Amino acid sequence: MKRTTGQNRSITRTWRPATQAVRGGTWRSEQGETSEAIFVSSGYSYDDAETVAARFAGEQAGMTYSRLQNPTVQMLEERIALMEGAEACRAQATGMAAMTTALLCQLKTGDHVVAARAAFGSCRWLTDNLLPKFGIETTTIDARDNDAWKAAIRPNTKVFFFETPANPTMDIVDLAYVCGLARENGITSVVDNAFATSALQRPLEFGADVVAYSATKMMDGQGRVLAGAVCGSQAFIDEVLLPFQRNTGPNLSPFNAWVILKALETLDLRAKRQSENALIVGKFLEGRVPKMLHPGLPSHPQHNLAMRQMSACGPIFSFILDGGRKQAMALLNAIELIDISNNIGDSRSLMTHPSSTTHSGLSEDVRADMGVEEGMLRINIGLEDPADLIDDLDQALKVVGL
Ligand SMILES: *Cc1c(COP(=O)(O)O)cnc(C)c1O
Repeated sequence: MKRTTGQNRSITRTWRPATQAVRGGTWRSEQGETSEAIFVSSGYSYDDAETVAARFAGEQAGMTYSRLQNPTVQMLEERIALMEGAEACRAQATGMAAMTTALLCQLKTGDHVVAARAAFGSCRWLTDNLLPKFGIETTTIDARDNDAWKAAIRPNTKVFFFETPANPTMDIVDLAYVCGLARENGITSVVDNAFATSALQRPLEFGADVVAYSATKMMDGQGRVLAGAVCGSQAFIDEVLLPFQRNTGPNLSPFNAWVILKALETLDLRAKRQSENALIVGKFLEGRVPKMLHPGLPSHPQHNLAMRQMSACGPIFSFILDGGRKQAMALLNAIELIDISNNIGDSRSLMTHPSSTTHSGLSEDVRADMGVEEGMLRINIGLEDPADLIDDLDQALKVVGL
């Protein structure tokens, strides 16, 4: 196995992100395959005992066991790091494995975490349930409010944890301010960038320390595999994250890594086109539903901030109907082209009712606190012709009297 022609690191580092997405991190075997090979092997064999000893001692590069390294997974890690502008990346089995690893690898009893109150249901579960069980204190705040971050800092605050845009309220966090505040106070910022990906938003350029992903969403984008990733400095990945990951094993399978590698080749195209489509559909819905939560529309209270830190709005937005759960479910039941599905980032348009699905595991109080109303619907706009999506929404809105 060797890196492809010209791919020594000093050269690949200068490639622009769209080139990285297609070529970054490619290794080729002696067969010279153009498409990345899948190495389905849990272990490795060695020419002699000294070689394996040197690899275990970290004195020689090379594979030892697929919980520690795998060539296909490593190609994906290099590609994501190059796209993100990060020194290093480690792939994880799922987005939640990535979030759990990114947090637990650096926290201990007595530490304090400040987290955004608006978050993916399982991310809220980590801050509300898992971390406190191990004596790690957590405070959840309105992450749109810069002063709230400052006010929540304590002497033992170790991590800021948030998503932007947040799932499903589309709250935007001021990356430059919040990550800068973290740096000034010796706090590590962990940004869940699943809604945007590096194609639309690069948190490290705004001062983030760690970027964590559900690669299941925009990165795969075709609804096939679960995957996750954590990006950061070489020191963070090698010294903080790797000891945790290697000994606890939330690893990504080589096959799933390969699926994501192939998907990244089209990420830039998909992210741009789906953002354009989401804007077209959003403009249509704006006049028809009582409340839109769409960062690409000037009506979003944080539209300007969103457009300063994102190159496009992304495929996902939410809206709220006045008729509560009953009307929201009736609209879902009336759609014909768009699927009822709680996934996002897919090239198919999908719609879900967060309070009975992605956020149903949270208490009513927590949902109310983060703004997940009973009449809220979240939509992922795919690659279909937006005129067909508008026709579908139009007929469904009429069914529910809108
Ligand atoms: C889906 C999602 C996750 C979890 O990812 P999985 O791959 O499903 O484990 C984490 N954060 C956000 C913002 C998500 O949308």
